[in-house]
Amino acid sequence: MINHDFKSGQTKKTAATKNKLSTTHWMLLGGGILLAAVIMLLPTKEAEAIRAVNNDILPLQNLQLSIPPQIEPIAAEPSEQKAPPTFQARSVTVKRGDTLAAIFNREGFSPRELYDIMQLGALTAALKDIRPGESLEFRADDTKQLVGLSYKTDITHTLIIERDSTGFSAREEIRSPELRVAHASAIISNSLYRSGQQAGLTDNLIMELAGIFGWDIDFALDIRQGDHFTVLYEEQYLDGEKIGYGDIVAAQFTNRGKTFEAVRFTNEKGVSQYFTPEGRSMRKAFLRSPVDFRRISSRFTRERHHPVLGKKRPHRGVDYAAATGTPIKAAGDGKIIFRGTKGGYGTTVVIQHGTQYTTLYAHLSNFKRGQRNGSYVKQGDIIGFVGSSGLATGPHLHYEFRVNGTHRNPLTVKFPDAQPIKAAYKKEFSAQTQPILAQLNVLSRGIALAKNSL
Ligand SMILES: [Zn+2]
Repeated sequence: MINHDFKSGQTKKTAATKNKLSTTHWMLLGGGILLAAVIMLLPTKEAEAIRAVNNDILPLQNLQLSIPPQIEPIAAEPSEQKAPPTFQARSVTVKRGDTLAAIFNREGFSPRELYDIMQLGALTAALKDIRPGESLEFRADDTKQLVGLSYKTDITHTLIIERDSTGFSAREEIRSPELRVAHASAIISNSLYRSGQQAGLTDNLIMELAGIFGWDIDFALDIRQGDHFTVLYEEQYLDGEKIGYGDIVAAQFTNRGKTFEAVRFTNEKGVSQYFTPEGRSMRKAFLRSPVDFRRISSRFTRERHHPVLGKKRPHRGVDYAAATGTPIKAAGDGKIIFRGTKGGYGTTVVIQHGTQYTTLYAHLSNFKRGQRNGSYVKQGDIIGFVGSSGLATGPHLHYEFRVNGTHRNPLTVKFPDAQPIKAAYKKEFSAQTQPILAQLNVLSRGIALAKNSL
């Protein structure tokens, strides 16, 4: 499915989109960058409006600056596939209440032909879902025998049915959208989620952003007013129309004064991962937060008055307040070494990670079914659900992180270092990521300037 979003209304005003332009070209442009920097100094609403326009005009500038018009003729529209003169082509629009059988009948094709087509298997099943307003392209020969049928199942997929001497066959034609790189920056004023949306990011892109930095930043607890980010991400275009979004290409996130940077690298097997500019994987052995940041309502970390025992005692973990039933994720790969009731902790899971590390999850309402003591879990696997069992006044997750048996603050403990990029990829890594990182840095400087001038 195509990701239609609230920005789709902007796509129509794109003037330059008929030209096939490489997405990398616009990164060379000073004009766009300058404009971007100016935008960051504007209040959010105006900035958003200009940002949208900015995205639209970048390809135009690109055309003027990087390609002399005389050697880049405007690409001709792909010519319509013309049927040989003896064939008749017809486009039929599906009407309200239409069935395929009714259309075949109306167009003079036989039930046998329809039957044979529907026998072709999974691909032709799409024909059962035709909707009013969609169109079917028929081709018939002199004897009115059906020789071809095509049906656009969505914006990028077309089902093509053809008849030859052996009968009908079906195939699917897939058009891959052109990718262009767009950017967004924001200074966080309330939540990552709200600020991301205001900057024009889709929910998916916001989650992707949180996922990329989820090993370094606890998005549930650690986000502060004034944190800021810049994201370069892909937009998908087909025939000049924006049809959806791709992935994040690079991003920078400043959390409480500390800046993290990530860039995507795709190896020759087509596998993409995010790395630091130095080529260290963003992935680490532990997630900062075992709960989805969008579900958290509050947190406590330091020593506090124990709400149930009524006296002060050190608090050796982090509490994430969230609704009962909120899924809890394993912070890292490991083996469940405790799964049961543990005094004031209530319903509890403890996971052993390698020889040095354990994580503890307490006050659960329920365990994840299908796991038991001794089960191996992967990072991010759900292990149970938030509750208020044991000594708890309300539903929350109590999370502890221990290194060699000693409690550490899960928010600040240094995680073991991640795998660097393989030596064989080093050169390719630099070639692929340097231009993107240069672009990211220019844009990030703009948002940092804007932040400091607040
Ligand atoms: Zn606690």
